Amino acid sequence: MTDKYQRARRYQQFEGIFRCPICEERMQLVEFKSMICPHRHTFDLSKHGHLNLAVQPSNSLYTKELFQARHRILTESAMYTRLHQTLQTLIEQEAGAAQESCLIADMGCGEGSHLNSILSASKAPNLYGIGLDLAKEGILMAAKRYKDAMWVVGDLANSPLADHTVQVILNILSPANYKEFRRVLVPGGLVVKVVPRTGYLKELREALFDDQEKLDYSNDETVSLFEKQIDLLDVIQLQDTITLDEQQLQDLTRMTPLAWSAEPERVEAFCKQGASEITIDLDILVGRV
Ligand SMILES: [Zn+2]
Repeated sequence: MTDKYQRARRYQQFEGIFRCPICEERMQLVEFKSMICPHRHTFDLSKHGHLNLAVQPSNSLYTKELFQARHRILTESAMYTRLHQTLQTLIEQEAGAAQESCLIADMGCGEGSHLNSILSASKAPNLYGIGLDLAKEGILMAAKRYKDAMWVVGDLANSPLADHTVQVILNILSPANYKEFRRVLVPGGLVVKVVPRTGYLKELREALFDDQEKLDYSNDETVSLFEKQIDLLDVIQLQDTITLDEQQLQDLTRMTPLAWSAEPERVEAFCKQGASEITIDLDILVGRV
């Protein structure tokens, strides 16, 4: 069986979870190559196995270079190792309790390394993944590298997922759309949202900014918004200090939108300091709809 055929089979298995981004009708995979709705809106699977279900083009700020930097940090540094282990445990528990298949949707998956780390380390036989992002470059990179999940270019505010089709939503350091999360999750479905805490990347913020507002970040508002929309069950705090080398510091500044507004001289000085300790300080918000 060819790689392309195997991947098309996965989309066929889950074709019921997709809805047309234009008319919102359910879609079907036809001839193992195109998703088609009853109004004949047609979206072809790419040769790399991703689907582009976006009606609007993506934000050009999210470039290939950014996603390459992010990929190196996520896969080659220890920055998110503990996060991935914790999420994997949470999701395996959920898969263990599921009646049939357990589908995780990573909303705002970027180049897919968070979702792939969790899926590839998981032993649950009924666990499947779909990564969604509006940034086409990220999804393309994910599809080329990670064959086990479905990868879709789509708008998170009007997602191409049908109502009540997903068991778990992951939303890692990315904006949420709770109305959409509630729509696509099955009743009682799990939301796992990762948000920064005060200390997250504080060395980077201190090196680049004098502005007290950027230094005194608090996630209170984000947590309170979550609680208004989702039944908050648990908050897991993750704190860690890891060492990044010069190349990794450069990658960190490329992948962090906060750093894009800093003065270039300060960014360069931050990277040139050589191997440095960086603080990871995150909250994992766990809730159900
Ligand atoms: Zn349609």
